[in-house]
Amino acid sequence: MKPQDYIDLENRYGAQNYKPLDVVLSKGEGVWVWDVEDNRYMDCLSAYSAVNQGHCHPRIVAALQEQAERLPLTSRAFRNDQLGLLYEELCRLTNSHKVLPMNSGAEAVETAIKAVRKWGYMEKGVPENQAEIIVCANNFHGRTISIVSFSTDSGARAGFGPFTPGFRVIPFGDAQAFEQAITPHTVALLVEPIQGEAGVIIPPEGYLRRVRELCDTHGIQLILDEIQTGLGRTGKLLAEEHEGIEADITLIGKALSGGLYPVSAVLSNTEVLGILRPGEHGSTFGGNPLACAVARAALNVLVEEGLIANAELMGQRFMKGLRAIANPAVRDVRGRGLLLAVELDPSAGGARPYCERLKEAGLLCKETHENTIRFAPPLVITAEQVDWALERISSVLSA
Ligand SMILES: *Cc1c(COP(=O)(O)O)cnc(C)c1O
Repeated sequence: MKPQDYIDLENRYGAQNYKPLDVVLSKGEGVWVWDVEDNRYMDCLSAYSAVNQGHCHPRIVAALQEQAERLPLTSRAFRNDQLGLLYEELCRLTNSHKVLPMNSGAEAVETAIKAVRKWGYMEKGVPENQAEIIVCANNFHGRTISIVSFSTDSGARAGFGPFTPGFRVIPFGDAQAFEQAITPHTVALLVEPIQGEAGVIIPPEGYLRRVRELCDTHGIQLILDEIQTGLGRTGKLLAEEHEGIEADITLIGKALSGGLYPVSAVLSNTEVLGILRPGEHGSTFGGNPLACAVARAALNVLVEEGLIANAELMGQRFMKGLRAIANPAVRDVRGRGLLLAVELDPSAGGARPYCERLKEAGLLCKETHENTIRFAPPLVITAEQVDWALERISSVLSA
């Protein structure tokens, strides 16, 4: 089969809810992926930061194989010999008290919403059905009805109403707007430490510290969605560490499995997860032994192979290289660790054509919104590989 044959099959039989670059991949290793004609590309998207440990990391693949042959699924009707170990390792690593495992990121977000609402009614004394959760404009937290109910992206929302009530949207990075939006019914602030899908938007210095204080003062749960920023991506295990704060609830997913399996988790530092009783929440696959074994290996790799420090170091090198590209079309270069973005001037004709040209040059990345290209390679990237990428980016952006 030719690449076009695969594309035709997808177009003929698949829902067209994505607009992928026309590259048909069939193999991956580390930062590299190969298409069906054996052309090699550097992956600078890492499946939206799910593949922080690099494609097909041998230790994670081995854990998956071993557990798949032993026992993949028990359901939570019974206990298994992997779940408790994952809980312990996650709590030790992130300084949390409780874990609730799910599969997709959106499910972790939904779980947190349910937990803080219930906490609001049981502990804070909010009247039944009146709980409010404050969220930020240009957020990305997933695709379920409740989550798109508080999206400000018209593409994510249009045509999907009626929407779930109970959310209030404020500008991102504006602690004063948060303070003004608080009411006695506010149970939580749900926010990304850095807005990834919005184009790698970094809030002003001190923002997270200030919202942390306000949450403490007003008895509000701070929920940080670290599904994209967490697990080493920004050069820290969690992006909250850049401001020296701790969320009450931290959401992780994506790289929690190194890209081999959907695994997400809600971590909490207060007893908010303790509010959930048997029968009130669950998932057939959540916390299954295969997911737990894969996640344990993925976390191990992150820590033992020094990927977090490497993200910091390689991020600095990548950023320096991007900043050195002299092109009037580049409006801004920003990022933290290996979550980087180049924003182009609207007059440049959009980021998509640049992503197409980067693909031709052997580098895969994706536009976010109209004018921004995100660069987020696997955290296993080496200095030589960063330089290899920069040469290509520089020649495409300068052309
Ligand atoms: C990807 C992402 C999600 C949703 O995760 P899914 O696994 O796609 O449901 C939620 N929040 C953030 C910040 C994300 O980047």
